[in-house]
Amino acid sequence: MAIQSIDPTSGDVIASYEQMAPEAVQGIVEHVHEAFLGWRQTSFSDRSTLMRKAAQVLRDNARDCARLIAREMGKPLRDGIAEVQKCALGCDFYAERAAHFLAREPVVTEARKSFVTFQPLGVILAVMPWNFPFWQVFRFAAPSLMAGNAAVLKHASNVPGCALAIEAVFNDAGFPPNLFRTLIIESSQVQAVIEHKLVRAATLTGSGPAGRSVASKAGAVLKKTVLELGGSDPYLVLEDADLDLAAEVSTKGRLVNAGQSCIAAKRFVVVEKVRRDFEERFVKHMSAVRMGDPLADGTEMGPLARHDLRATLHRQVEASIAQGATCLLGGTIPPGPGAYYPPTILTGVRKDMPAYDEELFGPVAAIMPVRDEAEAIAAANNSVFGLGGGVFTRDLVRGELIAAELIESGNVFVNAAVRSDPRLPFGGIKESGYGRELSHYGIREFVNIKAVSVA
Ligand code: NAP
Repeated sequence: MAIQSIDPTSGDVIASYEQMAPEAVQGIVEHVHEAFLGWRQTSFSDRSTLMRKAAQVLRDNARDCARLIAREMGKPLRDGIAEVQKCALGCDFYAERAAHFLAREPVVTEARKSFVTFQPLGVILAVMPWNFPFWQVFRFAAPSLMAGNAAVLKHASNVPGCALAIEAVFNDAGFPPNLFRTLIIESSQVQAVIEHKLVRAATLTGSGPAGRSVASKAGAVLKKTVLELGGSDPYLVLEDADLDLAAEVSTKGRLVNAGQSCIAAKRFVVVEKVRRDFEERFVKHMSAVRMGDPLADGTEMGPLARHDLRATLHRQVEASIAQGATCLLGGTIPPGPGAYYPPTILTGVRKDMPAYDEELFGPVAAIMPVRDEAEAIAAANNSVFGLGGGVFTRDLVRGELIAAELIESGNVFVNAAVRSDPRLPFGGIKESGYGRELSHYGIREFVNIKAVSVA
């Protein structure tokens, strides 16, 4: 069977890729393990040289990569270029700091010498989503390879071209052959890879159902997993917020990647006193965004990545309206080809509506009015997810306290939209997953934290 990339602006098939047979996949894992045996013995300095070359290859090819991203999943060209450049930044970040992050840690004991050392594990499986088809992979791959591991990638089925382009980046940078390999397989083939005796751990970025499936299969064979799953990030707009800033940032936070980001702002928990003023500004900003062909100049928002994702989103919007939510903007599927969905705002969203309980993976904002700060925090935490969150207030002490102590999630930004940054750990709690990527926490997920003591 073939795996196809389909242009979301037209529904046309761009390219077909032959699915790898189970025996071929097993063979690739063995080759990757072979490459690992040599790689684990290289110095940080040698690894850094290659990782910096990977960063250069990315920068040199940013436009071509962005074009591929645009064609396979609809991201506007300028956003794709920014994504690829961010990957280069991530490669440079770990090239520079991996030796420091993984340096031996001396420990004082009664022995002559005791220390902690961080050893690579071997072949790591990465199961990745299409929404940031380069960045999701590089933020795993850069630290993992710098730590001395090797990797196999099972990318989302709608971005096989990106998956192969990423493999090519590592080859073009001069990494040992087979150290990073892309598997063109469907999700039903993932179990066999997890169970392969040479695969030591798995990471998955994607939906809850996929996370549960991969984690349970890895658990059955006692292999570690890191899960970066969905989110429904709450943005609290308090009565002392700068509403112009809140509306502007909320628009960017909601419409990033046409709303298809795990850390997009999804639930806007707004104190009743300022709700109308915020809504007015929010509608103004959201309606000004230019939606169109991702390859055209000036496009700020492309289509959704697939037609089935648009159908799901529209069902969530319609069901929420049927249950009493009010649509302030958008909410209708535009005529013509392409998986386009307009910026949409629902207000009066309450518990038990899909817009409250479920992740809205598209440009749909759900406004939830609350009486005060206490109700806002309760509403923010009343979610199965715990990935990111935002707080808007002019009182920075208050904002910091709410962010640090009261919101249950892995990241909270005050007066700004949540974004991933190689310097900060990234990940979630509750059904948003476990484990961390980025920073020194990320590079320590797939290493053996080994204690050594010399009597
Ligand atoms: P998805 O359907 O879960 O797919 C993600 C990856 O998992 C794809 O490679 C997919 O392969 C694979 N997969 C799906 N079901 C599987 C199974 N049962 N066993 C093994 N692999 C399986 O998610 P998506 O629609 O691509 O991405 C959207 C979701 O990802 C959202 O919930 C979003 O919030 C989340 N996400 C989270 C983060 C984060 O860092 N926390 C970042 C980005 C996205 P196929 O394509 O072949 O099905």
